[in-house]
Amino acid sequence: MNQESHACAKQLVAQELVEGLSQAEHDWLTAHMQDCMRCAELARQTDEALRGLRTAAIPLPHGLASRTQFRVRLRAQELREREPKRRALWLACAALFAAAVLLMENSRKGDQPDWMSQGS
Ligand SMILES: [Zn+2]
Repeated sequence: MNQESHACAKQLVAQELVEGLSQAEHDWLTAHMQDCMRCAELARQTDEALRGLRTAAIPLPHGLASRTQFRVRLRAQELREREPKRRALWLACAALFAAAVLLMENSRKGDQPDWMSQGS
């Protein structure tokens, strides 16, 4: 059991919760955790922490924002790895959103443009 396989197991534990594993990855991780208490414990703790977060976040209104951000991040990660075409769509949406923010910023400044306050 080398350091690299522990790192790999750690990565797979996170990946399993976020985007799922292939059968081969799942089998490898299961086999590793049968021999490795440390990684099995890590998987258990990670799972528990995530459950705790989900349970705790539900009754809190301000949890909504972070849950949404979390989902968006997960989705973005998923797209980054699996769906390059849809990623382009998301980037386009982000670009449009940024453009809208810039436009709003500009129109707010536009209430008192420089050229108006200079002349008189
Ligand atoms: Zn391990």
